Amino acid sequence: MRNNLLRARARAPHSKVWAVVKANAYGHGLEPAAEAFADADGLALIEFDAAQRLRDRGWKRPLLMLEGAFDMADVHQAAELGLTLVVHCEEQVRMFEGCRLSHPLPLQLKVNTGMNRLGFRPAAVPAMAARLRASGNALSLSFITHLANADLDQQTCALPAARQLAEFTGAVAGLDAETSIANSAADLMLHPVPGNWIRPGIMLYGGSPGAGTGEQYGLQSAMTLRSRIIGVQQVQAGESVGYGSRFTAQQNMRIGVVACGYADGYPRHAPDGTPVLVDGVRTGVAGRVSMDMITVDLTPVPQAAVGSEVLLWGPGLSVDEVAQSAGTIGYELLCALAPRVKREHLR
Ligand SMILES: *Cc1c(COP(=O)(O)O)cnc(C)c1O
Repeated sequence: MRNNLLRARARAPHSKVWAVVKANAYGHGLEPAAEAFADADGLALIEFDAAQRLRDRGWKRPLLMLEGAFDMADVHQAAELGLTLVVHCEEQVRMFEGCRLSHPLPLQLKVNTGMNRLGFRPAAVPAMAARLRASGNALSLSFITHLANADLDQQTCALPAARQLAEFTGAVAGLDAETSIANSAADLMLHPVPGNWIRPGIMLYGGSPGAGTGEQYGLQSAMTLRSRIIGVQQVQAGESVGYGSRFTAQQNMRIGVVACGYADGYPRHAPDGTPVLVDGVRTGVAGRVSMDMITVDLTPVPQAAVGSEVLLWGPGLSVDEVAQSAGTIGYELLCALAPRVKREHLR
């Protein structure tokens, strides 16, 4: 995670870095992530209880709340904790107009430059900025936007980054304020990386923001999910394995039963052939993933037995590859790591 942070910075040497730690640091654990990102200029997240935990644990640098306040209680908590709040809708502007905070807050006005999720259209930006300033509750005001397609081919995608950047530049022209634009995809693919601050998330954990694997971008996977073989079945040609009998043996073969299932966060939609490493040897899922187990083909690993180590993803088997096989993205697999998985944080 430290190395990946260095890599994110190296791509945007003139920008400051919000290390994104939402969703329990993409499943990696908030506290260990904050420790790994001690050199980041700030942390960005969604959850106010997590911001409280970070302050309690002594994180003194800025904390950016990416969706801002959900209610007035959040606004007051933000003032107490010294959080930086995104303001993305008029309802949130009114929250600041209707109160007098003990400590004015750094605010980030979100500009909708075409993503059409959160934020104000460029034309509404000057008025909203003026209202926030007039509220007396803005210690500072900067501007943030989010790119839809920085990971895609810019020649063919529906909304190229350059178009969003032009919208953003128009919206903030003359406002003389700090800007924040780039997620991991923009940090890895745009030259130069735009904005005074970048907001990398997935790349800090070694995952790819788009096609390919994190390793292909020189990133190191931060999470290793591993288990062991707890059973072996000798299966005859024509016999099938597991629920729905999805996998049928074409010849006599050995099936390894691995203690890891969808209740651990392994994707239930992983088809036969989804890669796993058994004793370091690449083989594949054979049969439907169940709650507590997956079954794998042991043909390429004749020495495998009960107790053999199984790597579901990590160094040597990218979470991105497993995700692609299962029809999802690495983000979802990392975030979905289940509470019952025993965690070990290595320094
Ligand atoms: C999650 C998030 C990011 C980080 O995105 P990655 O694709 O993980 O780099 C950046 N900005 C905002 C607003 C986000 O919600």
